[in-house]
Amino acid sequence: MIEDKNQSHTKISDLGEFGLIDHLTKNFKITQSSTIKGIGDDAAVLNFDDKQIVVTTDLLVEGVHFDLSYMPLKHLGYKAVVVNLSDVYAMNAKATQVTVSIAVSNRFPLEALEDLYAGIETAANIYNIDVIGGDTTSSNTGLLISVTAIGEVNANEEIYRTGAKPDNLLVVSGDLGAAYMGLQVLEREKAVFKVNPNSQPDLEPYNYIVERQLKPEARKDIITLLKDLEVKPTSMIDISDGLSSEIIHLCKQSDVGCDLYEDKIPLDPQVISTCEEFNIDSTTVALNGGEDYELLFTVSQADFPKIKANPNLSIIGYMKEAKEGMHLVTRADSRIPLKAQGWKNFNA
Ligand code: ADP
Ligand code: MG
Repeated sequence: MIEDKNQSHTKISDLGEFGLIDHLTKNFKITQSSTIKGIGDDAAVLNFDDKQIVVTTDLLVEGVHFDLSYMPLKHLGYKAVVVNLSDVYAMNAKATQVTVSIAVSNRFPLEALEDLYAGIETAANIYNIDVIGGDTTSSNTGLLISVTAIGEVNANEEIYRTGAKPDNLLVVSGDLGAAYMGLQVLEREKAVFKVNPNSQPDLEPYNYIVERQLKPEARKDIITLLKDLEVKPTSMIDISDGLSSEIIHLCKQSDVGCDLYEDKIPLDPQVISTCEEFNIDSTTVALNGGEDYELLFTVSQADFPKIKANPNLSIIGYMKEAKEGMHLVTRADSRIPLKAQGWKNFNA
């Protein structure tokens, strides 16, 4: 669907590996004081003084995690960085550097990799991080991209999944289910395009949900907001797999239970209308959709006045004793045990 017939096609082999790396990374600037040496030697050199370091990595595989028929490479580069930064913020840390490794088949011209790196550069500029290295190799089939993100956090300021206590409030940033519904729309338009290649999809009515799928943001702003509000969550996780499975992670790792209120789950109007159009239950989508990259955290009841009126935050439930279990309290006031359905990758 998204193709540019005017683009030129320079063979990667014309540049050679070192020429390619140099070409792709020549614009990257160093802005973090902790980066002593970035790209160009056998290893990067970092100095964090007395800070603690967090490290996280993700591997994205074409055909498993992304589909290039509707994912522009520029967005893919952006998203590959952002999903890693989201994990750094979920530790209550400041993201500072990333490394980017790619495996590419000869199906990709240089111009495609330039697009990928333009997205990486945009993310680096917006989130103020340095790209300090990576690896480049060939692949016999599709594209693989692996990003490792590094961040810093003062001792005792990191937030784990393990600190939730009974009676804590369960809070989520933003809204849920949009990335999954955006994917449903893109998959539908791809199927239409296969039958009729001249069709031009009108994605305007779905702009928000499609953007949430193709160009997600990490909630750096929420980490800043919580600091400004002087709220320190007792536990935190980012929502990559769906609300349900992330709540279960918090509960199991903190040894607590939970009541989640269906009517408190934040949904964008476009998610509700698209769910109606696809005849899918919006609660199911929020619980199991995934890829929302919002932050899910628990706070003590004493913090309620500081967060209750904030438009970026929704209180969606309460933590309980572990023996009381994990439940969804429905609009009809029935209690349904939470299940981790997920939907990704390993579900045949
Ligand atoms: P080595 O032979 O030690 O693996 P490389 O020639 O692969 O070194 O890399 C040279 C420099 O370029 C290193 O600083 C490395 O981190 C960086 N680099 C290699 N590939 C990439 C890439 N795809 N993106 C960003 N930096 C890269
Ligand atoms: Mg190398």
